[in-house]
Parts: sequence; structure tokens; C-alpha cells
Amino acid sequence: MDAQEAAGLYTYRIRWSEPLLEYVIDCDEYTPHYVRHADAEYLLDYTRNTVRENTARNHEDGLPIHRPERPRQSADITRRCLERAMMLAAGHEPDDSRTDEFRPWEREVLGIAAGLGEEDWTMSRNMVELSDAKLKTRLDDTFIMLHAMLIAESAEALAQGDMGQAEALDRARLALGESYLGIGPHDRRKMIACTDRYLHLIARRALDLGFQPDVHIPPDEATAMRLLAADPRFRYAGLRRATRRRRPWAGPLADMPRGWMIRFGPELMDDMQQVIDLGLRGFGIDQVKEKWGGLRVLFDDDPIDWTTGLERPARWMDLAGLMRELLDLYETLSTCTCIRCGSQYRVRASAGRWIEPVCRRCAHARATGRRGAPPAKSEWKRMRPLDCGEPLAAWADGNHARLLGDGRLRGLHIRTLLEQCDREQAGYADTGNGTPQSHGPDETQDRTIGRKES
Ligand SMILES: [Zn+2]
Repeated sequence: MDAQEAAGLYTYRIRWSEPLLEYVIDCDEYTPHYVRHADAEYLLDYTRNTVRENTARNHEDGLPIHRPERPRQSADITRRCLERAMMLAAGHEPDDSRTDEFRPWEREVLGIAAGLGEEDWTMSRNMVELSDAKLKTRLDDTFIMLHAMLIAESAEALAQGDMGQAEALDRARLALGESYLGIGPHDRRKMIACTDRYLHLIARRALDLGFQPDVHIPPDEATAMRLLAADPRFRYAGLRRATRRRRPWAGPLADMPRGWMIRFGPELMDDMQQVIDLGLRGFGIDQVKEKWGGLRVLFDDDPIDWTTGLERPARWMDLAGLMRELLDLYETLSTCTCIRCGSQYRVRASAGRWIEPVCRRCAHARATGRRGAPPAKSEWKRMRPLDCGEPLAAWADGNHARLLGDGRLRGLHIRTLLEQCDREQAGYADTGNGTPQSHGPDETQDRTIGRKES
């Protein structure tokens, strides 16, 4: 038996890792180098090919080749592992009658971190009482809360300079969104199983964010704001209060759509504050709205200050120009960010009169559980891909050199956010553990909406 033939009969064991939110793989006969990825079939193909190549190379170098341990059953075992892993990833427990009970610490943490109560974790027992629409809303809200937690955790890691951890969390988040697509539009059992699973994950992530069952350490202010934005019960009054507390002038920003607030709300406020601190006295927001799929923040930059009747000094007008540039960058970022959940992966512009950037998962979620609705897939096909020109960060460097090159504003978040958006659009393809991520040709990312040339 030659090396290639031997390697073709190795047994691969792929499994779904809930804490990593990715698939991991192992081989009985050979220790593969890259072991994690969000796409199970891709991971298997990739690992098989590299193991085969490496085995052949080792053979040429005169190293011993491991004999296949189960040449007859290897294909079958590999296939069964793959199927089981994919079922688990989609939240489909092989044994449908069993749902994990919520442990006391989980209940407590869910109560503190997400304001959830008894009815949330007993849902699986009361499933018959819930309408399709209610189930669907619960599933979607729970997902978005978990998604916001992963964004918050990644932002905290980034703030501490831990790029590796931030990206691992981002990749986990993308994998989570992909697994959501496996939920059938009318599959009540699976909707409940997934909601339960997200709740378990929320409890685990909440611990990492500082919510402890005994000693409650309040999370950092930016995290608290993202979680308030994600929670439909607190989105209005609670978020408004928190926004004003963070920055007294920022109250109107609480009206920002949920996905944008989760993704970059706290950073936007910090960056605006930096420009204000340069001497933009009397700065006030007139209006915050969403137009043509992008965020618009309007403020008073009239040459005459109507409160005093005096002409504004040139220096003030210059700073107002910097503020305008900063807001332009955030507006462009918003056109590439899902308005519902904050994802920047596989985002398209919704078709029809109302243009909004929406991600693949949210497009799917909208159709899930809707009676007589067209299949989610065709809805997604009708949506307009974003026109992908040059990467956002490079575009910003070319068009907003004055702002980004200003030595007084070195601490701005916006450049990092644009780079992160570029990497997320590419599915973190050339980063992390090195395995490239691929998706079908109809999923190419393009960007046409809202790009402003200045
Ligand atoms: Zn989304």
C-alpha cells in the first residue's frame, strides 16, 4: 500500500465545539495541523488533502507511514461523525425529547445579565402553548442577544490589545450565524432547541463578561450599552438613559437602529467626544436617522450660532468639518453593517423601496416561522449584493487623510472598525488558524450603497 492510498483510508473525527462555536477535527492515524473551522465539510476536505500531501512527503523523506487503523470502516465512521456534528451545530439534538435543564447558576446569571425569567427557560416544556410567531421572535431575540455578547467580548479583547482573542470570538460569532441557517422555517422543535441552546451560551458568555452569580461585577459601560440595545425590553427607556449617562450630548444617538448601536454605538460616541474635546464648544445633535441604508447624524454647523447670534470662529468651523468627516466614515461603515444584528458578514441591501443592509442570517430569520412566506433563499437572492470596491480601510485612508492623519486624534476607533469590517466581509479568511473560509459564488460581497466620495 503506498502512502497516498494509506492516507485515503484514515479515519477522521469531526465534532462541534460549543464553547468555540466551530468544528474541530482529529484523525486517528495522523495529527492534523489546522483543526478548527466554521464549515464542517470544508474542514474535512481541507484536512484530508493536507494529511494526504504531508503523508506523501513524509514517505518521500523516508519516514514511516501509519497504517490505516480501520481501513474498512473509516469512510463510514468519518461520515457519521460529520453528520452528527452538523446536526449538533444546527441545534438539532439527535434525541429530541431531551433538553438540558438550566442549572441554578445559569438561571441566576441569565436573570442578572439578560433580565430573563422562569418562562424563558421553561419554554421547551410549554412549547405547545406558543404560537409560531412568538417562538420565532423568541429565537431571534435570543440569538441577537448572544450575538451582541460576542461583539462586546471581542471589543473588550480588542481594547486590551488582544487581537488573537478578538478574532477568535469574531470567528465564533460568524459560525453561530451560519449554523442558524440550518433552522427550517416551520420547524418548531428545532426553534425551541436552538433558543434553549442560545440561552445556555448566553449564560456562559455572561460569566466571561463579568456577570457572576454571587458577586455581581457591573460590565464595562460599552458592553452594558450593547446589551441594552440587544434587549427589546430595555431598548427605549433604558438605552436612552444609558446613552445620556455616557455622553450628555449623545441622547439622540439612542435612536440608532439596533444592529448599528450594538456594533459601533459606543465607539461612535467616544470618537465624537474626541473631536468635541478639541474645542467644539456648544456641539449638539439635531437628528439621528437612517436614510438609504445608512446612518445619518445631523448637527448644527451653521456659520451663525443662533443661540448667540454671533458668527462662529473659523477654528470652530474647521472642527465642525472634522466632525463631518468622522460621521461620513461611520455612515459608510453603517451601510456595510446589518441593521438588525450588527454583523458585517454576508450583508446585502434589501430590495424594494426600503433599502437596508441586512445579513444572510437576519434575512433567513425574517422568513423563519412566517406562514405561507416565500422561502428565505429566494428572498436573499432578490437582495442586492454590496459593491465591493477597494477595502474600506484603504478607501478611508485615501479619502479622509486629513481626519485619519490628525495627530490629535490618534485614539480614534474608526480606523480599527473599518479594518475589522474588511476582515469580517472576507469571513476572516486569511487570519486565525490559517484555514481559508469559502462560500458560493452567489455570495460574493459587493458594495454599492451609500459610498460617499469626498
Ligand atoms: Zn443580521
